[in-house]
Amino acid sequence: MDVERVRSDFPILRKGLIYLDSAASSLTPEPVLSKMLEFYREYRANVERGVHRLSVRATEEFEAARREVAGLIGASPEEIVFTKNTTEALNLVAAGREWGRGENVVTTLLEHHSNLLPWRRPGVEVRVVRPDREGRLDPGEFERAVDDRTGVVALTHLSNVLGTLSPVEEVAEIASEHGAWLVVDGAQSVPHREVDVRRLGCTFLAFSGHKMLGPTGVGVLYGRREELGRLSPLCPGGGTVREVTSGGHEFLEPPARLEGGTPPIAEAVGLGEAVRYLKSVGLESIRRHEEALTRRMLEELWELEGLEVYGTPPEEERGGIVSFNVEGMDPHEVASLLDTSAGVLVRSGHHCAMPLHLELLGRPQGSVRASLYLYNTAEEVERFLEAVGEIARSLR
Ligand code: PMP
Repeated sequence: MDVERVRSDFPILRKGLIYLDSAASSLTPEPVLSKMLEFYREYRANVERGVHRLSVRATEEFEAARREVAGLIGASPEEIVFTKNTTEALNLVAAGREWGRGENVVTTLLEHHSNLLPWRRPGVEVRVVRPDREGRLDPGEFERAVDDRTGVVALTHLSNVLGTLSPVEEVAEIASEHGAWLVVDGAQSVPHREVDVRRLGCTFLAFSGHKMLGPTGVGVLYGRREELGRLSPLCPGGGTVREVTSGGHEFLEPPARLEGGTPPIAEAVGLGEAVRYLKSVGLESIRRHEEALTRRMLEELWELEGLEVYGTPPEEERGGIVSFNVEGMDPHEVASLLDTSAGVLVRSGHHCAMPLHLELLGRPQGSVRASLYLYNTAEEVERFLEAVGEIARSLR
């Protein structure tokens, strides 16, 4: 992978900052920006319902984006619903499902709040599987937690705090043995590695455009065709129906029935271009690039005195996310210092994973999180490590 070539596509990088916050939101390359501008400049019109040439072109581009997204994860286009973000995608499943009496949801202590709160529904018991202290989930724990009253197993693919990978394929088998849906939060995996929904065995997969070089305002819900058809629309209205009379209506098939109102057209078209961009660089190359940088980062941080580093040790596979605390310092203070002293931008706080910080790490103040993407370099990692080292030494 030619990192310098990649970097030249990202205008924000010309500011000379070291952006290590892609897990919160990624940067956007020129081809994506141009594609969205092209929509506004050349064929700006509403989709699906028009017969004039601009509407036809807008619809073609919008549907082409859906095909790109489907192709990325091994799905078919009818299984792709455009949403606002991951959070909305997960809520679409939780609110659209017809819950049976006495059903339960099995989830984990690693989850982002967006894959926990939507499952807290009246009459539904939420069972939380605990990983070990480093964030490894044991499929045996799911075997014990899942039973025939389990409606949904909701699981993150890659932890947004620890970077650890979940045993999704094993959990898929357990969920399927009990007839439960497996809902995977792919917000941190789909942008960074090859993900195939059939291989994973998930029923639903949610992810966000803004974490994968796309614009804000668009996300994706993949749903296996039959199960998608069983969700009732969260937002019924224009675009969701085949026929309406003054007293009744008949909904269209998914995805249309789940995309009420005018969708985020420019954003979806931009996301389609982001997917083309990711494919042209190659997700396997991106994964390997991040893996090398992460290993270097972890090996050094692991050895630094005065630092507490979370997640699995450097030699174990994980995504490009590293969270830590400098002993005796508030994480926000560390993040602020890294910005002002070295132009290194990292995130601090609980990263929308309070149960993990409170109940697994015992760190109510949260942590500092550095996260990598295809445009980060080995030199940036060295500068980050030096800056963290200086902060840690200043407290000795
Ligand atoms: N799940 C995970 C694992 C995440 O990292 C995030 C974003 N921090 C979300 C869900 C929520 O994504 P969004 O804010 O785009 O809905």
